[in-house]
Amino acid sequence: MNGALYDKEIQCPVCKNIFHTKKVRSSAVRVERRDTDFCVYYNGENPIFYGVFVCPNCGYASLESVFQEISPLGKKNISTKLSPKWIQRDFGNERNVYKAIEAYKLALLSGQLINQKKGILATICLRLAWLYRYIDGEREIDFIEHAVNCFEEAFRYEPLPIGNLDEVSLVYLLGELNRRLKKYDEAIDWFNRAVSNRAIKRKRKLDAMAREQWSLAKEEYKKQKNQNESV
Ligand SMILES: [Zn+2]
Repeated sequence: MNGALYDKEIQCPVCKNIFHTKKVRSSAVRVERRDTDFCVYYNGENPIFYGVFVCPNCGYASLESVFQEISPLGKKNISTKLSPKWIQRDFGNERNVYKAIEAYKLALLSGQLINQKKGILATICLRLAWLYRYIDGEREIDFIEHAVNCFEEAFRYEPLPIGNLDEVSLVYLLGELNRRLKKYDEAIDWFNRAVSNRAIKRKRKLDAMAREQWSLAKEEYKKQKNQNESV
């Protein structure tokens, strides 16, 4: 038995099946460090691994925070388009990074089928990028790209915040994700918007990070330009 984990009982909103999924006790969560795109590294159990619930019976999967939020049409789409092809699998045990990746991909599939908000899809993609980063997986960058597309749409058309991401944090994050994609002009533009946003004055750490990553993006942009000119 892993004492850091406990079982949570869930009822699936689609098929009404009752199942169990593991969660990390909050007293057992030990943050080691964070990357500049908010990716967290933990000593011991990683709560991100357990952030998606998967119904073993019908295949519906979603982020914990929105698992019960599904429209009648969404339920219909899951039971007609996903469940018939679903091979019963259980995600209720301890998860390693590979099992977590599988769970998040299922959440992405369900999310697309039920037309979930772009902000939710973006969050799933960002976490998939982090999961791949933990194992130095090449697909990290693909999922950062998907995350950027979805976050940009969410920024334009959806109410904020997205989970813990308020407006200024999201603007900063879009700067940092574009920088990681080597889209330096766009990154600089987003960082500009972040540092000139009034709300950032109340977040000293974010303000400092935005200025640091902003000047890094400017340096990288110059380097890229010089390289292109010398070719
Ligand atoms: Zn179900």
